[in-house]
Amino acid sequence: MSIDPYAWIEPSLTTIHRADWYRFEQTISSLPGAIVQLEGRTVINFASNDYLGLAGDRSLIAAAIFATEKYGTGSTGSRLLSGHRQLHRELEKAIASLKQTEAALVFSSGYMANLGAIASVVGKRDLILCDRYNHSSLKNGAILSGATILDYEHCHIADLENQLKQHREKYRRCLIITDTVFSMDGDLCPLPKILDLAEHFHCMVLVDEAHATGVLGKNGAGCVEHFNCTDRQLIQIGTLSKALGSLGGYVAGSSTLIDFLRNRAPTWIYTTGLSPADTAAALEAIKIVQQEPERRFQLWQNIETLKLLIAQELPNIKLLPSESAILCLQLKDAATALAAGIKLKEAGIFAPAIRPPTVPTSRIRISVMATHQTEQLEKLVTALKNL
Ligand SMILES: *Cc1c(COP(=O)(O)O)cnc(C)c1O
Repeated sequence: MSIDPYAWIEPSLTTIHRADWYRFEQTISSLPGAIVQLEGRTVINFASNDYLGLAGDRSLIAAAIFATEKYGTGSTGSRLLSGHRQLHRELEKAIASLKQTEAALVFSSGYMANLGAIASVVGKRDLILCDRYNHSSLKNGAILSGATILDYEHCHIADLENQLKQHREKYRRCLIITDTVFSMDGDLCPLPKILDLAEHFHCMVLVDEAHATGVLGKNGAGCVEHFNCTDRQLIQIGTLSKALGSLGGYVAGSSTLIDFLRNRAPTWIYTTGLSPADTAAALEAIKIVQQEPERRFQLWQNIETLKLLIAQELPNIKLLPSESAILCLQLKDAATALAAGIKLKEAGIFAPAIRPPTVPTSRIRISVMATHQTEQLEKLVTALKNL
């Protein structure tokens, strides 16, 4: 047998190319911010999740340096062995305070938090109901859990109710999982209705607040706060790497839940604790979210300004419905989206094409930041006009 067992990879790559699905990285060589150096070109940045402009903020950088000098670069072990520091506990307390929950637990990333939490609370005898547009980490967490997974139509309460009526009885526990802000669309899940259904059918609810934390809600706690649902029982996941400008993820909820996860979540138990630098930067970011609400107000002002400019200047454009800092311009197919992304970059605008299999339909995705100037929003609209 002389057949190379890896020979399948190259034709598979060719197939990806043919579908215009091929992806590659682009290098940014400056600090993160509203303007970045992208592949040697100065561009206005509409591709970042750094909604409050904190990832390049001097106080976060200083906190990370201070923590590194004091505690070193690595936490050297899992939290239960040698990797736990007082800084981790302080961060967990700060997250719980922001989210108005009893407790929180910090993971290496939001992705890991979802895998660990979902796989811990349900298993083979249980049912998961999953919004069709949920993030990859929710979907893979569901698979990892071994539970039966049923998808419901995107944000479709009647479909969710139907499936619960049909299937809930056959299973022990049931978990409904959903993004609160959908990451590739920008719309919100109908949380109060989901929680009411969950109560009626005796289900747990797990929400992913990745794009809502620091952005939505009176105190920046997220979509749960936006909908006045902070007193409802649920499992809240989030990331430290978007509006909080650092790296890591978390679960927030009751102290019983957090205590259970500390003993059960494999992606928390068997992995190294968050680095001192990431921990300290996230802690500083939460302080800023709580003490400087004007950053969030500015973000929302920018979102409204951009929506208004688009409505005025581009009346025929198809924007997907959005109630967040994510605005999407729907396009015909992957090739059109790619070409639009390239043309925008030539005009000094960084707004990426998002294609299948990440999303069902191709689009240009625009992320608004608190640190964008009105003039930069105007330049984006002009570039979109010229497409
Ligand atoms: C980005 C994102 C994650 C992953 O968070 P990381 O901390 O980057 O791993 C999870 N869920 C959603 C909805 C996201 O957008």
